Amino acid sequence: MAVLPGLIDCHTHLADGARDPSGDPLSQLKKTAAQVAFESIPNARLTLESGFTTVRDVGVYRAFNDLALRDAISAGYVVGPRMFVAGAYITISGGAGALTGMAPDITLPWDLHYGEANSPWEVRQKIRLLANHGVDHIKVLSTGAVLTHGSSPRSEEFTMDELEAAVDEAHHFGLRVAAHAHARQGIKNAIRAGVTSVEHATLIDDEGLALAKARGTYLDMDIYDEECIQADGASGKIPTDFLQHDAELGRIQRENFRKAVNAGVKMSFGTDAGVCPYGVAARQFAFMVKYGMTPMQAIQAATGSAADLLGHSSDLGSIKPGKYADIIAVAGDPLQNIHQLEDVKFVMKEGKVYVRK
Ligand SMILES: [Zn+2]
Repeated sequence: MAVLPGLIDCHTHLADGARDPSGDPLSQLKKTAAQVAFESIPNARLTLESGFTTVRDVGVYRAFNDLALRDAISAGYVVGPRMFVAGAYITISGGAGALTGMAPDITLPWDLHYGEANSPWEVRQKIRLLANHGVDHIKVLSTGAVLTHGSSPRSEEFTMDELEAAVDEAHHFGLRVAAHAHARQGIKNAIRAGVTSVEHATLIDDEGLALAKARGTYLDMDIYDEECIQADGASGKIPTDFLQHDAELGRIQRENFRKAVNAGVKMSFGTDAGVCPYGVAARQFAFMVKYGMTPMQAIQAATGSAADLLGHSSDLGSIKPGKYADIIAVAGDPLQNIHQLEDVKFVMKEGKVYVRK
């Protein structure tokens, strides 16, 4: 066996209930909050049993379902990874993190649009509330998204003023900010505003790469999940507007991942789990190697670098006295065959064994 620190996925959505292959957020309207919460229990278990002992969960449609899951896991009611959670998406109305696609005369319940904010002061107000409710970080949506009706991944959404307000307000509470961004200007705005990580970073340009490097901003690029979007698209499950948003983006993101690795930008491991089925996140390692990382760099993205991104280098990300006993093992040497990480044989979290094959 090869022994490694427990893996960390820096971009998950464990608390959105059973995965819907259509990726259509409107399916949330068919379920109560409690139903979504119970459906999320297997998501947590599959994630832990596949070797991920910690996740940074970066947003949920039903506000605060992620805090409930985090706390249920830490209390021992539910088996799952240690979760760091965002509470809600901070998004413009009608934007990447909003539930959209309904007729305009339909009023959503409060928890399905909790994080909507449309000025720097509204952004600050929402962050103040989230901080008070006990979130671990803030997730802002800087640009449009692929899997959102009426939102283009190539558009900017929050303004520079709003992004700066988000980072400033989050820092008042000791919270870091993760920014969803596909469009190149939205990526640069987020980096200049001082976010800790840019999620997706799909269309990042050379200036964006230089800025990320200079500022020490992490890029958290989900370069595997395109496989799932295309497979679900081929079977006719995904709404056609989402497939149009996605055209070309997967290929460009992978090319830009290679550029980022070559430029020496800080990189973490994040998969957008929920786009692909839960429990297969480790398939991304082979893609990170295919697109320019050494196997050791790919492993570090999910261990030491991920812990640094979380601000938890002192207790996560390596095997040392004084840290959590989060330890996994695989059957062969992952530095020789990175696919070994897709079949984890042993999982321990905080000294308790969950998998022994
Ligand atoms: Zn996501």
